[in-house]
Amino acid sequence: MITITFDGYSSCGKSTMAKSLAAKIGYTFVDTGAMYRAVTLLALRNNLFGIDGSIDEIKLQQLLADTTIMQQYNPQLSKVETLLNGENVEGEIRTMNVSQHVSQIAALPFVRTEMVKQQQAMGRKGGIVMDGRDIGTTVLPDAEMKIFVTASPEVRAKRRYLELTAQGQEVTIEEVMQNLEQRDYIDSHREVSPLRQADDAVVLDNTNLTRDEQLAMLLALYHQRSND
Ligand code: C5P
Repeated sequence: MITITFDGYSSCGKSTMAKSLAAKIGYTFVDTGAMYRAVTLLALRNNLFGIDGSIDEIKLQQLLADTTIMQQYNPQLSKVETLLNGENVEGEIRTMNVSQHVSQIAALPFVRTEMVKQQQAMGRKGGIVMDGRDIGTTVLPDAEMKIFVTASPEVRAKRRYLELTAQGQEVTIEEVMQNLEQRDYIDSHREVSPLRQADDAVVLDNTNLTRDEQLAMLLALYHQRSND
């Protein structure tokens, strides 16, 4: 069994691709963005964001020490759900409010140290498809197959907008576009493990590819890399 990583900008279809590949080859899928979103929800619920945009880091660090974040497969819904201290927060972590605060939380060094430690423990076993921003560069740099996903900003905003409105969230396409730009900027400019393409990653631009075409390309690469 090999280890597979997916990195790239926000809403470029990484997790859809990663999930369908994992399901097809019987690997475990890990959504690392969900972990940073769960930490953000914890901070929001505890009012740790000041009106000036600052974060009460000391309080967050204390809370994190007593917090468990887990991902669990729900066989009834055939999907992985995120649990924050045992509570299913899968819906709540996908709201615009969490999206608007997550990149600030994900830039905090102590948050990254803790999340990366947990992700590396999950990745050690192999048979993993892990999706995020720094997986091929920092979390699992020895992975046998690394994909860096891109898509045009318009396509990404439209996909996210359709996803959010389908869930009943009231957002405009402009708000979605602005949020994607802001997250991409913070994610690529932070000091600790910024978003960047690993030197040995394969770039997959899915702007004009169907899901079946993407999966076929990924499966071909998987068979090559795993000698399967
Ligand atoms: O993947 P998703 O869009 O859900 O990720 C939410 C946010 O979590 C990203 O915008 C980024 O700020 C952060 N993130 C990260 N490193 C990862 C995964 C996500 O910094 N490995």
